[in-house]
Amino acid sequence: FSTSALAEEELITPPVQINYTQNLINGQFVDSASGKTFPTYDPRTGEVIAHVAEGDAEDVNRAVSAARKAFDEGPWPRMSAYERSRILLRFADLIEKHTPELSALETWNNGKPYEQSLKSELPLLVRLFHYYAGWADKIHGLTVPADGNHHVQVLHEPIGVAGQIIPWNFPLIMFAWKVGPALACGNTVVLKTAEQTPLTALYVAKLLHEAGLPPGVLNIVSGYGPTAGAALASHMDVDKLAFTGSTSTGKVVLELAAKSNLKPVTLELGGKSPFIVCEDADVDKAVELAHFALFFNQGQCCCAGSRTFVHERVHEEFVEKSKARAQRRVVGDPFKKGVEQGPQIDSDQFEKVLRYIKSGIESNATLECGGGRLGSKGYFIEPTVFSNVKDDMLIAKDEIFGPVQSILKFKDIDEVIHRANSTRYGLASGIFTSNIDTANTLIRGLRTGTVWVNCFDIFDAAIPFGGYKMSGIGREKGIYSLQNYLQVKAVVTPLKNPAW
Ligand code: NAD
Repeated sequence: FSTSALAEEELITPPVQINYTQNLINGQFVDSASGKTFPTYDPRTGEVIAHVAEGDAEDVNRAVSAARKAFDEGPWPRMSAYERSRILLRFADLIEKHTPELSALETWNNGKPYEQSLKSELPLLVRLFHYYAGWADKIHGLTVPADGNHHVQVLHEPIGVAGQIIPWNFPLIMFAWKVGPALACGNTVVLKTAEQTPLTALYVAKLLHEAGLPPGVLNIVSGYGPTAGAALASHMDVDKLAFTGSTSTGKVVLELAAKSNLKPVTLELGGKSPFIVCEDADVDKAVELAHFALFFNQGQCCCAGSRTFVHERVHEEFVEKSKARAQRRVVGDPFKKGVEQGPQIDSDQFEKVLRYIKSGIESNATLECGGGRLGSKGYFIEPTVFSNVKDDMLIAKDEIFGPVQSILKFKDIDEVIHRANSTRYGLASGIFTSNIDTANTLIRGLRTGTVWVNCFDIFDAAIPFGGYKMSGIGREKGIYSLQNYLQVKAVVTPLKNPAW
């Protein structure tokens, strides 16, 4: 398998230049305070593609000061909401115009298929900013019929300086989930990108300034977690922290926030999402959807359907067909046409995924296909399918974050609900059935922030996303995301004439 993709085929990458590698502070691209840089890589080869300013605590201080000033003195929180909305709309239009270069840069730095960047992620990015632009002038408070002779109004005000830390698996989409609602609500932002993928956020930030964003409203610091990230999480002048990444780092930033100024924190963390194939399933369709649920984005999705539960009646056929589908998966250079899977993000993730595969084999799960490295350079891994996976195996418990599907057998609905919920995570779940009663029972029983029924990975801008249990705190996207970036002020005024 995958040989077709590894064969010589026309590359579809448009020319792309790396123009922005410095930190963005107060509207200017600047070197890091220490003068240090760090390399960023092409996961296809492991070769360095650029050296990027390495921010640390001092750069975070400078970025927070700029954001503070832009919030306290600048026009942004005071600007008419309509004007803010128009800047975000112009930004969305500029992203649309620059879609080919941005898609190429995203793929070059992350390894995801270019066609995925171009046809799904960039259009979604545009959609997200249109969506948040639409909210800017529709955020308003309430009046409350309180007891007594008082006029009571509730104002919804921007929270202040938002600190945001994002991961590498969807660099631009994560940028939008964080920056979109924060700016629509009138806040200023300091964003720390993932050290693996610093490039596209800097590119779009330049476009946002071209669209009219005042200096200091969005500041970007590239750098590592324990230095730049920790400085942001523990900063006394940051009013709110939003984080996406692993559950273990989520705990660290929550603690840093608590130990500093008790800033409110939203967390979008890991998952071990069940994908449940019921006995009435059309097996061919279920196989295709379960395959997509796990393998999409090289398996590097927080909500990946990484526990495929299959009813015993269709289990054997499902395993055979899943194996065949994985063997047909086209792996190769993500810039080549028709490629479904590129490399893993970096050597750490690559090694980690291979370690989990080894653990699956050692714990006596059945390796149906894959299991090894593909090619001799870069971080490509064969699409891997395990059957006979048991709940207590590491591959059924931990977030692997790679192209490794684990298939588990079940007998009845109550049993599968119990087993699906027996995890510390609760991000998402998938159900495949045509029986409305079965679907409803599962929907009510599953303790996850999203339930996809006969679909998976539907990420509309208006749909809230977030986790139960150790998958996080709070929701992003949709109307719920605005609450993360607003303060609530109750205003009580005596009424002169209570009768009115
Ligand atoms: P991570 O949680 O370490 O990194 C995410 C972000 O947090 C990055 O920007 C990183 O620089 C920052 N960070 C790291 N340590 C920090 C600290 N002490 N203080 C403040 N910020 C810090 O994730 P990772 O190492 O890139 O990946 C490890 C695992 O996390 C993956 O294998 C996967 O299981 C999971 N992950 C989940 C998501 C998700 O969307 N939920 C995304 C990426 C990774």
